[in-house]
Amino acid sequence: MNSKIWLSSPHMGGEELNFVNEAFAANWIAPLGPNVDGFEAELSGITGVKHVAALSSGTAALHLALILAGVGREDEVICQSMTFSASANPIMYVGALPVFVDSEKDTWNMDPALLEDAILDRIKQGKKPKAIIVVHLYGMPAKMDEILTIARKYEIALIEDAAEALGSSYKGTACGAFGDYGILSFNGNKIITTSGGGALISNDENAVKHARFLATQARDNAPHYQHSHVGYNYRMSNICAGIGRGQLKVLDERVKQRRANKAYYSEVLGPLPGVSFLEEVEGSFSNFWLTTLVIDPTVSKGVTREQIRLALDADNIESRPLWKPMHLQPVFTGAPAYVNGNSESLFNTGLCLPSGSNLTRADLERVTNIVTNLFD
Ligand SMILES: *Cc1c(COP(=O)(O)O)cnc(C)c1O
Repeated sequence: MNSKIWLSSPHMGGEELNFVNEAFAANWIAPLGPNVDGFEAELSGITGVKHVAALSSGTAALHLALILAGVGREDEVICQSMTFSASANPIMYVGALPVFVDSEKDTWNMDPALLEDAILDRIKQGKKPKAIIVVHLYGMPAKMDEILTIARKYEIALIEDAAEALGSSYKGTACGAFGDYGILSFNGNKIITTSGGGALISNDENAVKHARFLATQARDNAPHYQHSHVGYNYRMSNICAGIGRGQLKVLDERVKQRRANKAYYSEVLGPLPGVSFLEEVEGSFSNFWLTTLVIDPTVSKGVTREQIRLALDADNIESRPLWKPMHLQPVFTGAPAYVNGNSESLFNTGLCLPSGSNLTRADLERVTNIVTNLFD
């Protein structure tokens, strides 16, 4: 059996252990400490967002962002339909109702025109949405000018799910820095990892302070344990933050490596009939966290996404269909959805190719040879 090629696996830079060892030497093993402070300051520098709370996961960050936005029971929250379920699940944690909006074709992210239709229709039905969750899928920036304008026009809080988009930017501004709140993820498969972790980022100092308070069990300022809010155990540990600080040192390199994967796949597979890739639009810079291919079976002489996936799998290579839209997920049956068919069509015809920053040229060639052979 050929060696396994993963979709996206952790890739250490070399300095992580230094930070972890420092934490051990000082016995800073707790969910606070110098690595947490350092990691937050460094993330603030990279994103240009003033305040950062390092948390246990991106999902936790989304949960807190919804609480900060004042979302409660029976409120409606608009969410991009084409995404990973972690974008939408926190809406359920706070007892609110998700309303899904489909994607536009250029970036595969939330369609601004459909977003406005959805807002107007929800208002007509008697309920103005409390928040909007937009996602920068696969690292590709969403159309933030349009989306931000709509959010401001209707005075709805904007939460940016930049879990996949650290290192991506739109017109020079980092993904995650546009909305009222941004969230990042450092899960094992993301562009950099803390083994597991996330962050909430915002220019609102009080909001981030409150997030840190909620994330550490919401303990009031009293010598005994006194609580006037429901708290959570959502802080990042000083050990994980140490891994993160080491990883941040190689973030630029990781972005370059992932972009080089995309460039290679485009060059070799792009000329095949019916094959296309998600591309940057003017002003956008993607970290190309995952390289995503779409295949039109009416042009590809019958070659399908599933054929490619199975052929890769037979050679011990992991690939994955594009995210199944939330409006088609059993768990969200019955949720209102404003659709145009784009995310469903992408789900049926799209594939994420192995995209790790640690892939070798030989690994990439193994992938492209298998795909090219299907066309012979
Ligand atoms: C990974 C991911 C999340 C969740 O992040 P975790 O750190 O794994 O909780 C949320 N949204 C998107 C789009 C993701 O890809």
